[in-house]
Amino acid sequence: MSVAEKKTTSDERLAKLVLALRSQGVTDPAVLSAIEKTPRELFVPELFQERSFEDSALPIACGQTISQPFIVGLMTQALTIEPRARILEIGTGSGYQTAVLSRLARLVYTVERYRTLLGEAETRFKALQLTNVITKFGDGGEGWAEQAPFDRILVTAAAPSEPKKLLAQLKPSGVLVAPIGKGPVQKLIRYAGDGRGGFVSETLCEVRFVPLLDGVAKEL
Ligand code: SAH
Repeated sequence: MSVAEKKTTSDERLAKLVLALRSQGVTDPAVLSAIEKTPRELFVPELFQERSFEDSALPIACGQTISQPFIVGLMTQALTIEPRARILEIGTGSGYQTAVLSRLARLVYTVERYRTLLGEAETRFKALQLTNVITKFGDGGEGWAEQAPFDRILVTAAAPSEPKKLLAQLKPSGVLVAPIGKGPVQKLIRYAGDGRGGFVSETLCEVRFVPLLDGVAKEL
Protein backbone atom coordinates (compact mmCIF):
# COMPACT_ATOMS: atom_id res chain seq x y z
CA MET A 1 0.00 0.00 0.00
CA SER A 2 1.34 3.47 -0.83
CA VAL A 3 1.83 6.07 1.88
CA ALA A 4 -1.09 8.09 0.43
CA GLU A 5 -3.38 5.04 0.47
CA LYS A 6 -2.36 4.20 4.01
CA LYS A 7 -3.19 7.76 5.08
CA THR A 8 -6.68 7.55 3.52
CA THR A 9 -7.45 4.30 5.34
CA SER A 10 -6.28 5.65 8.68
CA ASP A 11 -8.29 8.87 8.18
CA GLU A 12 -11.39 6.79 7.43
CA ARG A 13 -10.85 4.53 10.40
CA LEU A 14 -10.33 7.52 12.67
CA ALA A 15 -13.55 9.15 11.38
CA LYS A 16 -15.40 5.90 12.13
CA LEU A 17 -13.98 5.77 15.63
CA VAL A 18 -15.06 9.37 16.25
CA LEU A 19 -18.62 8.51 15.13
CA ALA A 20 -18.66 5.54 17.52
CA LEU A 21 -17.52 7.73 20.42
CA ARG A 22 -20.23 10.26 19.64
CA SER A 23 -22.92 7.58 19.69
CA GLN A 24 -21.64 6.49 23.11
CA GLY A 25 -22.01 9.96 24.61
CA VAL A 26 -18.82 11.89 23.80
CA THR A 27 -20.72 14.72 22.15
CA ASP A 28 -18.58 17.81 22.80
CA PRO A 29 -17.51 18.92 19.29
CA ALA A 30 -14.19 20.35 20.54
CA VAL A 31 -13.30 17.05 22.22
CA LEU A 32 -14.24 15.02 19.15
CA SER A 33 -12.23 17.32 16.93
CA ALA A 34 -9.18 17.01 19.24
CA ILE A 35 -9.45 13.21 18.99
CA GLU A 36 -9.83 13.42 15.22
CA LYS A 37 -6.64 15.51 15.00
CA THR A 38 -4.60 13.02 17.05
CA PRO A 39 -3.20 10.09 15.02
CA ARG A 40 -3.49 7.27 17.58
CA GLU A 41 -1.34 4.96 15.44
CA LEU A 42 1.70 7.08 16.36
CA PHE A 43 1.17 6.22 20.03
CA VAL A 44 0.60 2.47 19.63
CA PRO A 45 3.49 -0.08 19.48
CA GLU A 46 4.34 -1.60 16.09
CA LEU A 47 2.87 -4.96 17.11
CA PHE A 48 -0.61 -3.49 17.64
CA GLN A 49 -0.66 -1.00 14.72
CA GLU A 50 -3.64 -2.74 13.09
CA ARG A 51 -5.68 -2.18 16.25
CA SER A 52 -4.88 1.54 16.61
CA PHE A 53 -8.42 2.55 15.66
CA GLU A 54 -10.24 -0.03 17.72
CA ASP A 55 -12.01 1.37 20.74
CA SER A 56 -9.91 -0.59 23.19
CA ALA A 57 -6.96 -0.09 25.54
CA LEU A 58 -3.72 -1.62 24.20
CA PRO A 59 -0.41 -2.63 25.81
CA ILE A 60 2.55 -0.23 25.65
CA ALA A 61 6.09 -0.60 27.07
CA CYS A 62 6.81 -1.08 30.80
CA GLY A 63 3.65 -3.18 31.33
CA GLN A 64 1.41 -0.13 30.97
CA THR A 65 -1.51 0.64 28.61
CA ILE A 66 -2.67 3.32 26.23
CA SER A 67 -6.22 4.20 27.29
CA GLN A 68 -9.36 3.23 25.38
CA PRO A 69 -10.41 6.12 23.08
CA PHE A 70 -13.94 6.22 24.55
CA ILE A 71 -12.49 6.69 28.05
CA VAL A 72 -10.08 9.35 26.76
CA GLY A 73 -13.09 11.15 25.24
CA LEU A 74 -15.20 10.78 28.35
CA MET A 75 -12.47 12.00 30.72
CA THR A 76 -11.57 14.92 28.46
CA GLN A 77 -15.21 15.93 28.16
CA ALA A 78 -15.70 15.66 31.94
CA LEU A 79 -12.85 18.13 32.46
CA THR A 80 -14.83 20.92 30.72
CA ILE A 81 -11.65 22.56 29.40
CA GLU A 82 -11.49 26.23 28.53
CA PRO A 83 -8.92 27.32 25.93
CA ARG A 84 -6.91 29.32 28.49
CA ALA A 85 -6.64 26.41 30.92
CA ARG A 86 -3.42 25.06 32.42
CA ILE A 87 -3.83 21.33 32.94
CA LEU A 88 -1.87 18.84 35.03
CA GLU A 89 -1.93 15.23 33.82
CA ILE A 90 -0.62 12.37 35.96
CA GLY A 91 0.54 9.29 33.99
CA THR A 92 1.86 10.33 30.57
CA GLY A 93 2.10 6.71 29.34
CA SER A 94 2.13 6.79 25.54
CA GLY A 95 1.30 10.51 25.53
CA TYR A 96 -1.96 9.96 23.63
CA GLN A 97 -4.24 11.52 26.24
CA THR A 98 -1.70 14.35 26.68
CA ALA A 99 -1.81 15.08 22.95
CA VAL A 100 -5.62 15.24 22.99
CA LEU A 101 -5.53 17.65 25.95
CA SER A 102 -2.90 19.81 24.26
CA ARG A 103 -5.35 20.57 21.43
CA LEU A 104 -7.86 22.01 23.90
CA ALA A 105 -5.83 23.84 26.53
CA ARG A 106 -3.17 26.53 26.73
CA LEU A 107 -0.62 24.40 28.58
CA VAL A 108 -0.43 20.75 29.60
CA TYR A 109 1.96 19.62 32.35
CA THR A 110 2.40 15.86 32.37
CA VAL A 111 4.23 13.59 34.84
CA GLU A 112 5.38 9.98 34.30
CA ARG A 113 7.31 7.58 36.59
CA TYR A 114 8.96 5.54 33.75
CA ARG A 115 11.83 7.26 31.94
CA THR A 116 11.38 5.07 28.84
CA LEU A 117 7.71 5.96 28.41
CA LEU A 118 8.36 9.63 29.02
CA GLY A 119 11.20 9.70 26.47
CA GLU A 120 9.08 8.02 23.80
CA ALA A 121 6.15 10.35 24.51
CA GLU A 122 8.45 13.40 24.26
CA THR A 123 9.61 12.23 20.82
CA ARG A 124 5.97 12.02 19.70
CA PHE A 125 5.13 15.49 21.04
CA LYS A 126 8.06 16.87 19.07
CA ALA A 127 7.06 15.06 15.89
CA LEU A 128 3.52 16.43 16.20
CA GLN A 129 4.84 19.91 17.10
CA LEU A 130 2.87 20.02 20.32
CA THR A 131 4.80 22.90 21.82
CA ASN A 132 2.42 23.49 24.75
CA VAL A 133 3.26 20.22 26.54
CA ILE A 134 5.68 20.33 29.47
CA THR A 135 6.94 16.98 30.75
CA LYS A 136 8.44 15.78 34.02
CA PHE A 137 9.91 12.50 35.21
CA GLY A 138 8.67 11.97 38.77
CA ASP A 139 6.03 10.70 41.15
CA GLY A 140 2.79 12.21 39.97
CA GLY A 141 1.14 11.43 43.27
CA GLU A 142 3.01 14.48 44.55
CA GLY A 143 1.59 16.65 41.76
CA TRP A 144 3.73 19.54 40.51
CA ALA A 145 3.88 22.05 43.37
CA GLU A 146 6.05 24.61 41.54
CA GLN A 147 3.45 24.99 38.79
CA ALA A 148 0.30 24.81 40.97
CA PRO A 149 -2.49 25.80 41.13
CA PHE A 150 -4.00 24.22 38.02
CA ASP A 151 -7.34 24.86 36.33
CA ARG A 152 -7.81 21.17 35.64
CA ILE A 153 -6.13 17.93 36.77
CA LEU A 154 -6.49 14.56 35.07
CA VAL A 155 -5.19 11.36 36.66
CA THR A 156 -4.83 8.48 34.20
CA ALA A 157 -3.80 5.81 36.73
CA ALA A 158 -6.04 4.51 39.53
CA ALA A 159 -5.58 6.27 42.88
CA PRO A 160 -6.43 4.07 45.89
CA SER A 161 -8.47 6.84 47.54
CA GLU A 162 -9.33 10.55 47.18
CA PRO A 163 -6.11 12.19 45.88
CA LYS A 164 -5.85 14.91 48.56
CA LYS A 165 -2.39 16.18 47.53
CA LEU A 166 -3.59 16.71 43.96
CA LEU A 167 -6.87 18.32 45.03
CA ALA A 168 -4.75 20.77 47.04
CA GLN A 169 -3.04 21.85 43.77
CA LEU A 170 -6.33 22.68 42.07
CA LYS A 171 -7.76 26.20 41.76
CA PRO A 172 -10.85 26.83 43.96
CA SER A 173 -13.20 26.41 41.00
CA GLY A 174 -11.09 23.78 39.24
CA VAL A 175 -12.02 20.27 38.15
CA LEU A 176 -10.12 17.02 38.81
CA VAL A 177 -11.04 13.73 37.14
CA ALA A 178 -9.53 10.45 38.37
CA PRO A 179 -10.17 6.71 38.56
CA ILE A 180 -10.50 5.89 42.27
CA GLY A 181 -10.28 2.43 43.79
CA LYS A 182 -7.92 -0.35 44.84
CA GLY A 183 -9.24 -3.25 42.77
CA PRO A 184 -9.12 -4.05 39.03
CA VAL A 185 -12.32 -2.04 38.49
CA GLN A 186 -12.47 1.53 39.74
CA LYS A 187 -14.93 4.42 39.79
CA LEU A 188 -14.22 7.37 37.53
CA ILE A 189 -14.85 10.39 39.76
CA ARG A 190 -15.15 14.06 38.85
CA TYR A 191 -14.35 16.53 41.66
CA ALA A 192 -15.53 20.08 41.03
CA GLY A 193 -14.26 22.84 43.31
CA ASP A 194 -17.08 24.82 44.93
CA GLY A 195 -15.00 28.03 44.98
CA ARG A 196 -14.79 27.94 48.82
CA GLY A 197 -12.20 25.22 49.32
CA GLY A 198 -14.63 22.31 49.15
CA PHE A 199 -15.48 19.85 46.37
CA VAL A 200 -18.58 18.30 44.91
CA SER A 201 -17.86 14.80 43.68
CA GLU A 202 -19.74 12.82 41.07
CA THR A 203 -19.20 9.22 39.91
CA LEU A 204 -19.21 9.01 36.11
CA CYS A 205 -18.80 5.30 35.42
CA GLU A 206 -16.71 2.22 36.13
CA VAL A 207 -13.26 1.97 34.54
CA ARG A 208 -10.17 -0.27 34.53
CA PHE A 209 -6.88 1.55 34.91
CA VAL A 210 -3.38 0.47 35.92
CA PRO A 211 -2.61 1.58 39.49
CA LEU A 212 -1.05 4.89 40.50
CA LEU A 213 2.16 3.68 42.16
CA ASP A 214 4.33 5.38 44.76
CA GLY A 215 7.70 6.81 43.76
CA VAL A 216 9.47 6.64 40.41
CA ALA A 217 10.19 3.30 38.65
CA LYS A 218 13.65 1.86 39.35
CA GLU A 219 13.67 -0.01 36.03
CA LEU A 220 13.86 1.99 32.83
N1 SAH B 1 -2.72 8.51 29.53
C1 SAH B 1 -1.98 7.36 29.11
C2 SAH B 1 -2.38 6.15 29.92
C3 SAH B 1 -1.22 5.62 30.60
S1 SAH B 1 -1.48 4.31 31.73
C4 SAH B 1 -2.10 7.12 27.62
O1 SAH B 1 -2.97 7.72 27.00
O2 SAH B 1 -1.30 6.36 27.07
C5 SAH B 1 -1.04 5.10 33.23
C6 SAH B 1 0.35 5.65 33.34
O3 SAH B 1 0.48 6.17 34.66
C7 SAH B 1 1.46 4.61 33.18
O4 SAH B 1 2.34 5.03 32.20
C8 SAH B 1 2.14 4.58 34.56
O5 SAH B 1 3.54 4.37 34.51
C9 SAH B 1 1.81 5.97 35.07
N2 SAH B 1 1.89 6.12 36.52
C10 SAH B 1 1.48 5.28 37.50
N3 SAH B 1 1.76 5.78 38.71
C11 SAH B 1 2.35 6.99 38.50
C12 SAH B 1 2.89 8.00 39.36
N4 SAH B 1 2.86 7.89 40.68
N5 SAH B 1 3.44 9.09 38.80
C13 SAH B 1 3.49 9.24 37.45
N6 SAH B 1 3.00 8.33 36.58
C14 SAH B 1 2.45 7.22 37.11
